[in-house]
Amino acid sequence: MSRPTFASIDSAALKHNLAVVRRHAPRSEVMAVIKANAYGHGLLRAAAALSAADGYALLELEEAVRLREAGVRSRIVLLEGFFEPGELAVLVEHRLAPVVHCLDQVAALEALPASAKLDVLLKVNTGMNRLGLAPGDYAGVLERLRRNPGVGAITLMTHFADADGERGVAWQMERLRQLPGWGAMPLSLANSAAILRHPETHAGWVRPGIMLYGCSPFPGETGEASGLKPAMTLESRLIAVQDLRPGDTVGYGGMFRAERPMRIGVVACGYADGYPRHAPNGTPVRVADRMTGTVGRVSMDLLCVDLTDVAEARPGSRVVLWGEGVPAERVAEAAGTVSYQLLCALAPRVPVRERAQ
Ligand SMILES: *Cc1c(COP(=O)(O)O)cnc(C)c1O
Repeated sequence: MSRPTFASIDSAALKHNLAVVRRHAPRSEVMAVIKANAYGHGLLRAAAALSAADGYALLELEEAVRLREAGVRSRIVLLEGFFEPGELAVLVEHRLAPVVHCLDQVAALEALPASAKLDVLLKVNTGMNRLGLAPGDYAGVLERLRRNPGVGAITLMTHFADADGERGVAWQMERLRQLPGWGAMPLSLANSAAILRHPETHAGWVRPGIMLYGCSPFPGETGEASGLKPAMTLESRLIAVQDLRPGDTVGYGGMFRAERPMRIGVVACGYADGYPRHAPNGTPVRVADRMTGTVGRVSMDLLCVDLTDVAEARPGSRVVLWGEGVPAERVAEAAGTVSYQLLCALAPRVPVRERAQ
């Protein structure tokens, strides 16, 4: 038998979550964000499950070409644009729409043949201060792009820094509204948090990522509260059981010490599978269909769980690390990170399969 650790992907959950996006943004077009191997879910599997989306967004040119070669005909956006002018021919050949976020890219586009008619997303920095043109450069660049016969449709894009938090989006929306002629432009503004919380950002193309995979973008919440279903379940099995006496410790560094006699289970999953090494004692985990917690430091290939309240657990018992019944958001919160990081850190050594229905 092979190592019992695997991730299963529930395509029906991906479809369900896309329908939740549609319910929130009924008049928008939906660009499914499938960067980072579709947040760990597998690029082509996720793209197929999300084929009812109006387009896709990702980062790598090679992956975009793979989508085209797999038969995808809808819009594909490259969220960081192109990295070298030499890539433009591939963009044109495969009709890949780059984000244009800096003046070097604007200049490179001027070498396009008039026949290219490459669609672009013009990204303006409205406060995130990561990628995007300064608002003061916007009007001039827009004019240049409009005069460039090689450029097709132009969509105005920005990204929100705190759509999930206290500051919200109003301050960035205000900077957008101050751009000359902004009301006439096709738009793409909203990430998952803005889709769920800020309807005034929905016009044009929305760009859901995390919510498609069933997790909440909001700190302290799980996707369930927004009607989402987790698409990825990471699971394994107990491969050993240990009886501890009072004073015994578990794993490297003795981070957990038993205060009374107790039974613990050893799970065939560790940080080399993508489970967070910083998960403390008590991080939620499901063993033989009961909730319990981790004990001791997570090691490369193994982690341990408390079996005090799971009397029926045996070697071979099923363990859910996150997903079905164990929100990845809760595991992430315990480990001081976010669900995004857990999902996309799923290690290549973990086999990924379609979930049996
Ligand atoms: C990753 C990303 C998104 C999706 O964000 P979520 O919070 O996962 O919905 C949207 N837009 C851009 C530019 C991104 O980089």
